[in-house]
Amino acid sequence: MRMRDGASYVRSLRDGRRVLLDGEPVEDVTTHPAFRNAVASFARLYDHQADPANTGRVTFPVGDARVHLAWSLPRSHAELVARRHAIAEWSALHLGFLGRSPDHLATTLSGIMIGLPVLRGFDAARADAFAAYFEHVRANDLFVTYVIQNPQANKAKGASEQARDVVAHLVSQDADGIVVSGAKMLGTSAVMADEIFVGTIQPLRPGEERYALSFAVPVNHPGVSLLSRRSYEQHAASAFDQPLASRFDENDAVVFFDEVRVPWSRVFVCGSIEAAAAQWHGTPAHVMQNYQSQIRLMVKMRFLAGLARRIAEINGSLDIPQIRGVLGRLAAQASLVEGMVAGMEAEGRHVGDYFVPSAHLLYAAQTLTQELYPQFVLAVRDLAGGGVIMLPSSERDLTSPHTRALVEATQISSVAEPVERVRLFKLAWDALGSEYASRHLQYEMFYGGASYVNHAHMFRTFDWAGARRLLDAALAPAAG
Ligand SMILES: Cc1cc2nc3c(=O)[nH]c(=O)nc-3n(C[C@H](O)[C@H](O)[C@H](O)COP(=O)(O)OP(=O)(O)OC[C@H]3O[C@@H](n4cnc5c(N)ncnc54)[C@H](O)[C@@H]3O)c2cc1C
Repeated sequence: MRMRDGASYVRSLRDGRRVLLDGEPVEDVTTHPAFRNAVASFARLYDHQADPANTGRVTFPVGDARVHLAWSLPRSHAELVARRHAIAEWSALHLGFLGRSPDHLATTLSGIMIGLPVLRGFDAARADAFAAYFEHVRANDLFVTYVIQNPQANKAKGASEQARDVVAHLVSQDADGIVVSGAKMLGTSAVMADEIFVGTIQPLRPGEERYALSFAVPVNHPGVSLLSRRSYEQHAASAFDQPLASRFDENDAVVFFDEVRVPWSRVFVCGSIEAAAAQWHGTPAHVMQNYQSQIRLMVKMRFLAGLARRIAEINGSLDIPQIRGVLGRLAAQASLVEGMVAGMEAEGRHVGDYFVPSAHLLYAAQTLTQELYPQFVLAVRDLAGGGVIMLPSSERDLTSPHTRALVEATQISSVAEPVERVRLFKLAWDALGSEYASRHLQYEMFYGGASYVNHAHMFRTFDWAGARRLLDAALAPAAG
């Protein structure tokens, strides 16, 4: 049976895509020092699923192929949980540090597919185009990422009122398709993906119909440019010094469309403000995409809890009662995420033939973890103290006999050799304090929208009527 592996994924990225970094176009993202290790990390995910030891657990058959379970449309609680295990298995391979791994959009697009009747209610032809697109990317197990946010400009003004027409918009349309110009942010992992899905999740006002778009293009599509941010991978001194940045820098890029022609077969919403919003909130797409993110975060929190405990062991503080208290609290917070994931599955609901996680428990998890992650990171930093700074300048200090001797004389632990101690604290800094770690903090705070947006989703989906009934019962005059 056909199945995607790492080598075929890497080959597919040598396609002439236009990636701009430090003022230059990048010839080949698979070999460029800014991206090659991240590409290899994504390739490892495909190799993992192609390994016969794992295939049965993490893939399922679609036509003549086997693809990752994140593409499955779950019909029951059990199928949702099996799907979660496959996502968590991939997340463990990157310790939760690849936010937009291919299972993210596979889950998002599955959510739109489950809610297809909603899109059909707006425009049957566009809904059919989405269904055909879904079958295409799923059958080929393609790596899709998305840009659904408008670039920051003037927050007091709508998309149509900016000083320049910066937001991606409809330029023209004809019998073949549409032409789009403008920008979207922030294409996380777009540099390493096969396809970019473009959507409109921010509210639009009447008169802004030309911004109400949803479509998909291959990353190498003519007129598409990716403006990469600074590469942390390229600036990592070595895998020893920055074990996370050097391997798991998934990149983020502004995506610019310069008169891009998109055929109707790849246009899912065009000109309907209501359909553009319903794609995310009328279907289970928004719930599904953030559910995948919570599974990934669950794995990352477990990893960080493990890191915290090892810091205490290496520093000889594990038996101090207060430190056990700190670790217990961190373990509780990591377990909270696990409990929220299990809860949203257990309280899931049927949408047609399918079974999706509870929206209000998902938004509760989003709201709380957005606050929890910075606190969690700070608590682990508090445990680490100066150990994350009291470090050799680079791996090269270990190759010179003189400096190595000094490192060995000063990096002391009762349970670890000096180099092991250095390795652990280098990892800790990369996870908690480096420029790479700081980007991750921003990611966990913003990937699912700013906090005020998540609070609004929570407000919208909570069972206020049930809460009111309890209040009314408490206020009712006592019988007799
Ligand atoms: C690392 C990273 C990766 C990302 N990856 C992707 C991606 O792959 N795809 C994608 O589509 N998007 C991505 N994003 C974009 C992300 O979705 C947005 O950053 C997010 O939706 C917030 O929008 P914003 O950045 O414009 O922030 P804003 O909306 O400007 O919010 C910033 C702050 O301004 C204040 N604020 C602004 N407006 C209000 C208001 N009305 N009420 C109250 N307070 C307000 C709040 O303090 C808020 O926290 C990514 C972002 C980051 C940081």
